[in-house]
Amino acid sequence: MSETSDPYGPIHGRASFRDHVDRGTFPAHGLDPDEAYELLHTGLMLDGRETLNLASFVTTWMEPQAEQLIHDTIRKNHIDHEEYPAASLVEEACVHMLGDLFNAPDPAQVVGVATIGSSEAIMLGLLAHKRAWRDRRRAAGLPSDRPNVVFGAETHVVWDKFANYFDVEMRKIPMKPDRFVLSAADVEERVDENTIAVGAVLGTTHVGEADPIEEINDLLVRIKADKGWDVPLHVDGASGAFIAPFSEPDLRWDFRLEQVASINVSGHKYGLVYPGVGWLVFRDASKLPEDLVFSVNYLGGAQPTYTFNFSRGSAMVQAQMYNFMRLGRSGYTAIVETMLANARFLNETLEASGKFTILNPGLAEPVVTFSIKGDPGFDVYHLSARLREDGWIVPAYSLPPDADAVHLMRVVVRLDLSRLMIEMLLRDLFAAWDALVAEQPVERARSKPDVWTSPAHAAAKSKARTGLAQ
Ligand SMILES: *Cc1c(COP(=O)(O)O)cnc(C)c1O
Repeated sequence: MSETSDPYGPIHGRASFRDHVDRGTFPAHGLDPDEAYELLHTGLMLDGRETLNLASFVTTWMEPQAEQLIHDTIRKNHIDHEEYPAASLVEEACVHMLGDLFNAPDPAQVVGVATIGSSEAIMLGLLAHKRAWRDRRRAAGLPSDRPNVVFGAETHVVWDKFANYFDVEMRKIPMKPDRFVLSAADVEERVDENTIAVGAVLGTTHVGEADPIEEINDLLVRIKADKGWDVPLHVDGASGAFIAPFSEPDLRWDFRLEQVASINVSGHKYGLVYPGVGWLVFRDASKLPEDLVFSVNYLGGAQPTYTFNFSRGSAMVQAQMYNFMRLGRSGYTAIVETMLANARFLNETLEASGKFTILNPGLAEPVVTFSIKGDPGFDVYHLSARLREDGWIVPAYSLPPDADAVHLMRVVVRLDLSRLMIEMLLRDLFAAWDALVAEQPVERARSKPDVWTSPAHAAAKSKARTGLAQ
């Protein structure tokens, strides 16, 4: 510590503000709490602004009362059901409410868990289907050493992770150059007696469309009748399962469809809760093999658990119930319709400019994906980098094979993105476009032949590429 440092003086005159902090060494001594706070708090200002992060689906605004409830419950370890029975009853109630929202034949019969997010929920769901498949095969005296899982390239990376981590053959259906969702025919070619589950997405990660879930269900119903293979359909509704029930209640994607055995949804996406909560819901207890559910007694009482994490905060589970009770169907519907209207406005303005092609004109969810029409001499990575200068985080990326020639940008419209802000985003986007057009001939003359792969642009490009979140 510097000699001049006065421990009672202003924080900004103290040693901690002046001394080098060695990030590779565990600190020998502590700091005054105000100093520690101020150092970290100011350091975090280097991050992007949450509301301007249009890359992410994850909620960036909640009501003050919800934040108060989060603060009230932040000390509760959610796994301690014996000590915090009221908190754990909330989880159970949320599961049944979701069963109702997803049109389970009997919401009282659904079973499910709160997870950290959809990733954990998807892995747990697929693991249950893998185990159920193995049990069926063993009971029939058939081999059970070559499980496979069928899904499309439009899914989230967690599907690949599941196949890799749990030794399941991945039968991933490539995108078509001009079609970014599955077809039932694609699925049919790949399903066999060793298929543990088929995955379909409501609100695809790359483009924000929906797989034809009802058609895939009908295919699986037919396969069950013809061949006797009872292949479950898992719906990845990470973002869409909190949209469709409110925007299109008659759309059949959920437990109304016979083969839909399980659904995941991210509470922290359009469930409108801060990061840290997802949900896995099974149609009924028969879809979750009992030998996967552990009962532990070391917290007092016997309690069943089916999660990867043991300890976790209770706050986001409570915050989810706050939203269910505070908003209800009518409140969620009002917010969903507003987000969709804002997304539609963005979509239509981009389209009308003649500069962009909209990749998801159907707007299955409030996400706008678009590519540049023709070749103006720059690409989406340049536009993305320019928008960052104005504070907007709009990722640019390419689609997976065989649609990898498509380079696009994605704006996720969340509840805190008003029409007013979308107008400012559009203003900045078109200004960025004009600036790129204006500077082009100059750059060309300076660094022929390959101006757009200059090191600065390549760096901007790779930075923009990694901007894709969730
Ligand atoms: C976000 C997302 C996931 C992963 O969800 P997390 O809640 O971030 O773990 C999985 N699938 C889809 C379709 C997603 O949009």
